[in-house]
Amino acid sequence: MPQAELEKSKTDWPQEDARLAELASTGILDTDPEPSFDAITRLSAEYFRADTVLLGFADESRVWIKSYWGEAVRELPRRHSIFEMVLAKDGPVIIPDISKHPLFEEEGMTLRRLDVGSFASAPVRSSDGKILGALTIFAIEPRRSMALDELRMLESLADMVASQLELRKLRKSFQVHRVRPTQAVKTVPGEWPQRPDLRHALEQREFVLYYQPEIELSTRRIVGVEALIRWEHPERGLIPPMDFIPQAEESGLILPIGDWGLAEACLQIQKWGKESPRHGSPRVCVNLSARQFSREGLADHVEALLRQFGISSRQLGLEMTESSLIPNMGTALEVLGSLRRLGVSLLMDDFGTGYSSLNHLHSFPFDVLKIDRSFVGRMTEGEQPLQIVRTIIELARVLGMDVVAEGIETCAQYRLLRDMGCRYGQGFLFARPLPADTISEMLQLPGRLLPDPEILGDMVN
Ligand code: C2E
Ligand code: MG
Ligand code: MG
Repeated sequence: MPQAELEKSKTDWPQEDARLAELASTGILDTDPEPSFDAITRLSAEYFRADTVLLGFADESRVWIKSYWGEAVRELPRRHSIFEMVLAKDGPVIIPDISKHPLFEEEGMTLRRLDVGSFASAPVRSSDGKILGALTIFAIEPRRSMALDELRMLESLADMVASQLELRKLRKSFQVHRVRPTQAVKTVPGEWPQRPDLRHALEQREFVLYYQPEIELSTRRIVGVEALIRWEHPERGLIPPMDFIPQAEESGLILPIGDWGLAEACLQIQKWGKESPRHGSPRVCVNLSARQFSREGLADHVEALLRQFGISSRQLGLEMTESSLIPNMGTALEVLGSLRRLGVSLLMDDFGTGYSSLNHLHSFPFDVLKIDRSFVGRMTEGEQPLQIVRTIIELARVLGMDVVAEGIETCAQYRLLRDMGCRYGQGFLFARPLPADTISEMLQLPGRLLPDPEILGDMVN
C-alpha cells in the first residue's frame, strides 16, 4: 500500500496501531497456521453448506488467509475487502446478494470478483476485543438474510478461532508446568519404581481401581464413573497413577496392567449390575494408554471381555487422549472404528491440551469430549478462559458429542458450567475417586442423586 494511503487508513482507524500490536503478539502471521483452523473452516463449510470459507488475519494492507475451504486463496488486498467492513462495523457483516451491494457496483469487492453470491463474515477478536481477522463464508447462491441462530453459529466459530489462538499461549505455559502421564515421560534410570517392582505389584495384586462419579449437572444424578488406578504399596501406601504409569508405559508393562484394569472394570460392572438389578451398573470408563492402541486386536479383546462377564457394551467407556492416538493414526482410526461398532463409548480425555484438538476431534469417532480440568480451573479467572470453555461446549454441540467437564472444585464453576449448557461433570466438589464399596453405597442413594454442593459448600469431600 502506498505510504499516503497507509497513513490515511491509520487516521481512519485510530485503533489500528493497537490492533496491529495485538496481532503481532499472536505470532500468527509468522508461523505455520494452526491445523485446527482447517477443522474450523471445514466445520463452517459443512454447517453453512458454503462454497468457500476463508479465515484470514489482516495487517496494514493485506488479509493473510490462514485456512480456506473450497477455492484456494492465500492473501487478498485489504482495501474494499469484507474484512474492512467487519472492522468498520465492529461486528459481523452479512451481504445476502453481492451483485446488489454498492461497493461491488462501484469498484468490485477485492475478496472475490464474482457477480453473484452471498457473504457473511464474523470478526475474530483478541482477548481484549481487537479485531484481528475474520471468518468469512461465501455461497454462490444469493441467500435470503441469515437467521439469528445461524449468525450466532458463525460468531461461535470465529470465537473458536480466537480460542485456538489463546490455547496456543496456554499450551505453552502448560508445557512448562505439567507433565502428563500419557506423554512418554523419560524416567531417570535407577529411580523407583523399576520394571521388576511393577511386575511384582502385578503378581501380588497390589493394583486397585478407584472410581470417580460422573454426574449429570442439572440433576446431580450419577450417570457413570471413571476407573482410576492406584497402587496399594505395602510400605509406601497408596500411590497415584502419575507416579507409576509413565514407568509402566516405558517398560511395556502397561499392556498387562492395562489388561488387568479392563478386566477388573468389567468384573465391577457385573457386580454393580447384580447389586442394582433395576438400574444396572453405571457406565464405567477406563483410561487407555497409547501402547494399548498400537497392539492389534484391542476390539476383539474388549468384545471377549464383554462376553465373559455378560455385560452390555453400553456399560463400558474407553478414555484416551489425543497424544495417545497420534503416534499411529492409521491403526488408531481402525481400532476406534471397531470399538465404536461394538457399541462402547469413546471419550476424548483432557481435551484442549493436545496439539491440534479440533483437527483430530473431527476425524476420530468420539462420542464424548472431556474438557481438561486446567480450563475448568481457570474459568472464574476472567472472560477469556470462560470463553474457551464456552466454545468447547459449543463445538461439541455442533459435532453431536456429549461433554464432561473435569475437575469441578467450586460451586461457582459448577454453576457456570451448568448455565452454559455443559451436560455432565466430575470433580472433587461432588466426589473424589473412591473405592468400589463406597461407590456401591452411593449408587443406592434415591435416584442416584448426590447432595447439592451449593448447600454443602465448596469441596465438601
Ligand atoms: P485423567 O484420566 O484425566 O483422570 C482425572 C484425574 O483428575 C484423576 O487423577 C482424578 O483424581 C483427578 N481429579 C478429578 N477431579 C478432580 C478435581 O476436582 N480436582 C483435581 N485437582 N483433580 C481432580 P488421578 O487418579 O491421579 O489420575 C491421573 C491420570 O492418570 C489420569 O488422568 C489418567 O490419565 C491416568 N490414569 C489413571 N488410571 C489409569 C489407568 O488405569 N490406565 C492408564 N493408562 N492411565 C490411567
Ligand atoms: Mg480419564
Ligand atoms: Mg482427564
